[in-house]
Order: sequence, then C-alpha cells, then structure tokens
Amino acid sequence: MRYASYFIPTHKEVPSDAEIISHQLMVRAGMIRKLTSGTYTYLPAGLRAIRKVEAIIREEMNRAGAIELLMPAVQPAELWQESGRWEHYGRELLRFRDRHDREVCFGPTHEEVITDLVRREIHSYKQMPVNLYQIQTKFRDEIRPRFGLMRAREFIMKDAYSFDVDEEGANRSYEAMYEAYSRIFQRCGLRFRAVEADTGTIGGRYSHEFMVLAETGEDQIVNCTACAYAANLERAEVRCEETGPVSETDRLLPVATVETPGVRSVEDVAAFLSVSPEQVVKTLILTVDDRPVAVLIRGDHDLNEAKVRNLLGAEAVELASEAVVEETTGAPMGFAGPVGLGIPVVADHAIKGMGNFVTGANQKDRHQIHVNLNRDFHVDKFGDLRVVTPGDPCPRCGAPIEFKRGIEVGHIFKLGTKYSRAMNAVFLNREGKEAPIIMGCYGIGVGRTVAAAIEQNHDADGIIFPIPIAPFEATILPLQMHDEKVMEAAEAVYAELIDRGVDVLLDDRDERAGVKFNDADLLGIPIRITLGAKGLKSGRAEIKMRPEPDSLFVPLDTAASFVKDKVKTLYDSIK
Ligand code: ATP
Ligand code: MG
Repeated sequence: MRYASYFIPTHKEVPSDAEIISHQLMVRAGMIRKLTSGTYTYLPAGLRAIRKVEAIIREEMNRAGAIELLMPAVQPAELWQESGRWEHYGRELLRFRDRHDREVCFGPTHEEVITDLVRREIHSYKQMPVNLYQIQTKFRDEIRPRFGLMRAREFIMKDAYSFDVDEEGANRSYEAMYEAYSRIFQRCGLRFRAVEADTGTIGGRYSHEFMVLAETGEDQIVNCTACAYAANLERAEVRCEETGPVSETDRLLPVATVETPGVRSVEDVAAFLSVSPEQVVKTLILTVDDRPVAVLIRGDHDLNEAKVRNLLGAEAVELASEAVVEETTGAPMGFAGPVGLGIPVVADHAIKGMGNFVTGANQKDRHQIHVNLNRDFHVDKFGDLRVVTPGDPCPRCGAPIEFKRGIEVGHIFKLGTKYSRAMNAVFLNREGKEAPIIMGCYGIGVGRTVAAAIEQNHDADGIIFPIPIAPFEATILPLQMHDEKVMEAAEAVYAELIDRGVDVLLDDRDERAGVKFNDADLLGIPIRITLGAKGLKSGRAEIKMRPEPDSLFVPLDTAASFVKDKVKTLYDSIK
C-alpha cells in the first residue's frame, strides 16, 4: 500500500471525548471515526487490524471443527417472545417495527435465531455434535457507550453455538472452545487469562471469561500468584479454613446489650466499643426471591451477593429495603443482629471461628456484646459468602492471591437446555426418545480485542501492535522524496517485500521526516525501514523495531530479506 494514495487520516490532537488511551490512539492513528454515540466507521487501517483478528478467529474456529454461517441481523420479536427474553432483555435490545407493523429487533446476540434454525434442521442424535459460528455486526443499546470500540453500541462479534446430545458431549464442545480461544488470543500476541466466571441462574458448572490483562481494564481479576487459578471477583472462592465452633475451653462471656446511639457502620461500632472490626458480625437483611433472609459476615469482610444466590439456589438476591429491615428486625437499618430473629439465618464460614462478638441488638441505638454462635442463636446454613481480598489463600493451591485488572474480550458459556427447552429444540436420541438439545455459546468481541491489544501495548509515541494484528507488518520511509536514488531504493525494497509476502506500507507522502516517523510510531507498525540519502551513500538501510530504542543498519540489497526474517522471528516469538 502507498500512503499518499491511501487513507490514513492521523491527528495530533487528543479527541476530547476519548477517556482511555486505546480510544485516543485509534482516533489519532486514523483507525476509527465516530458517527454517533457508540457507533464507528472502521477506517482502512482500523479495518485491517480487525480483519487480521477475524482471520485468526476463523482459522482457530475451523481448526476446532466449528462451521461458519451468517445469520440475519434483524430478528423477529416472536422468537424472543418464545425464549422469554423479549420481556427480560431490557433496553439494550433495539426494537423497532417494519412496514407491516411487525415488531423486530437488531440482534444483540443470536441464541434465538440459531436455536430456531437448529430445531428445524436437526432431529437426530446422528446430526450432532455441531458447532456453528458467525462473525457479524451486533447492536446493543448500551446505557453508557464509551471507550471507542471497547464498549460500542454497534460492534463486530464472533458468536458460536454448540449443540450436543448429552452432558459429556457438551463438555467436550466447551473444552474445544476453551482451547480455541486460548490459541486465538495467544496468536493475537496478547497477555491474557482465562478466568472462571459465575454462571448466574442459567446453571452449568462455570463459564470462562477471556481477559486481556491491562491496568486500565474495567474488570477485577482474582489471580493466584503460584498456580493457574484465576476467577472474576464475583466467582472467586474463599478457601474454607474450617475453624470449627469456638472450643469449650474458650470462656463464653455473658451476652449484654449496650447503648450505641447513632452508631451503625462496622467501623463506627468497632471504634465506639474499642474492638477491632474482626470482632464484629455484620447482619445483612437480604430479600431472596421475595423472602427476607439474614446473612452474617465478619465485620472486615464484604458480602458477595452472587454467592448467596448460589448457596440458596435463588433467582434474585438484593439488599432489603429499609421497610423490610424495620419489619423483620424491629429496628432501623444499622442495628440488625442474629439473636431472636424470626427469619432464616445464613452465615459465612468465617463466623464459625468467632466468639464473644459484637452484633446489632435489633433495637434502635443498641448493640449486643459477647454474642456466641449456637448458645445465643442458630445458623441455618453456612457457606462461602464473602468477597475475596488480596492475600487470601488460593482455593486451589493455598498460595496468596492477587488482584489484577483485565478487559473481557471473550466469553464461553454452557447454556444447557435453557433455549432448547423454551423453544422446543429436541432430537431423537439413540434410544429413540425425544430429548432437548444441550447447548453452549461462545463470543468474542472483535473490535474490543483490537482496542484491548492497544490498551495493553502502547507508549508515549503511540500504539505498539503485536505483529499478527498490526494493520501493516512493516513500513518504508523514504526521507527525501525528490532524491531519485532514495526513491529508487524505496521502490525496490517495497517491491521485494511484497514479493516476499510482507504486508508493507510505503510512506510516499511528500512530508517532513518527522511527520513520517511520528505517524509510523502512532500507528504502531512493528518494523520501520528508513531510507535516507546519507545512509544510501554507504549502501545502507536503517531498520528499527517499534518498541526498541536503537536502529540497525543493513546493506540495502539484503534489507528486504532481513525484514522478512524479522517478521518471521516476531511471529515465532508469540507462538
Ligand atoms: P460486558 O460485560 O462487557 O457488557 P457481555 O457479558 O455483555 O460483556 P457477551 O454477551 O458475553 O458480553 O458478549 C461476548 C463478547 O462481545 C464480550 O466478551 C465482548 O468481547 C464483546 N462485547 C460485548 N458487549 C460489547 C460492546 N458493547 N462493545 C464491544 N464489544 C462488546
Ligand atoms: Mg454487556
């Protein structure tokens, strides 16, 4: 490609609405332009990076046995009514009407459409397993579109759906996608983690989010410092150190009620009573599927609502309203305690090891001290209910865990029979009996992957693309456009690199050297070949790798083969 006749409109100014570096750099490097909030035109250089990610995805999906198709973007409401999501999806679903006044939506995802296809075409166990995927434009009317391609409204997604006859098959399909995703992000040259995630109410053992590691990531990752364990914050388990009930030799002090006027928070209560927060038990009143439940957590710990939902097999868990708290405890918020409560009580494992602790007294402005488990109240169910903290032991190996930040670029998920049951996608099994198909779904945000790559790989001068997803692998910068020798050399190297299969950009613009250097750095092209009158006098070309401070000088006639080798080395280094 020749820069002068190509279309890479670069900018010096940082766009005022771009909060994060990848968004700023993609606009400045001439990769994207905003049309309206959350919708972008992919300019040629941006599209090149996107197409490269797509090519890697296709190769790995095909290698894993998945089969590409392409479904319509606009979907009929009826399918969504069948699955029940027309009601539940909320305002992220862009709904409209066609000329016949039929309700339709622009697909934010394609479970309904694919399930509809499969229920019409697949009737026998002999037709499975099958995994169908597409790379397609989605629309989600995100409440806060931001960060450029990272959280857009219109974006390109690879979505795949697997169909199996039994659990084992579904697990194999899932494992195949886990492998494929690992290879995809590896081949994109990214540092990433496959993180265990909560499955919510859909069920299945777990799902995995593929997270590109970056300081600026929106997601918190819990990561073991020693083994491969990684989970998102919602899912991360606390290793259950069974401390057992307080032993009999511990002196149980008589429980007493104390005045704590206006003192509600754990910190304030602990300070007021001169104890540490670890000696306080927080009693949280939650509404669990419309019923009040008391949840006990050690004072210095935080509640993980998803864990309560899982422990109780509930659909919906939320903090109870002030009115419910008053009704169930007889006191305003901030004074709840487990003693004498007439509702189910569940507690985090850490409570087992506590004795003579402080709780609310279920009376305004009062707390109780020297409260003890089993003597003063009963717990109906114990479980892991708290949020992990850095330094907690890893649930797998016991080494300390750390927190890292990441960007979710992919998500693999066991759907089970959620859609096949709702939409009657059934098949005849080996025994001739009808059974619902077992499904999985697997997504990758293509644009978000490019943005995440930039978020992870940049410096003060611009993007540092990993070579497999760079818009160009190399760029040639002739410094004196009016010097025939320089231009001849540039054309020769350009032609040879094309012959050798290198994706190269010749910067043939009549611009100052500084402008060319800056744009090459901004766009993050991995290899730069500079041809100047001075170097050429001694027959040399200057070659610089984007992230390295120093240049190399090579004889002009070997420059192209040298660059080709470098390209290969760069690819090999990330395999
Ligand atoms: P998030 O929690 O970030 O909203 P999600 O859980 O809604 O993501 P999925 O439904 O699992 O995402 O979609 C699969 C993939 O599509 C995500 O892993 C992400 O890479 C991408 N994606 C989702 N929403 C967006 C968006 N608004 N803009 C760009 N990419 C997106
Ligand atoms: Mg979302």
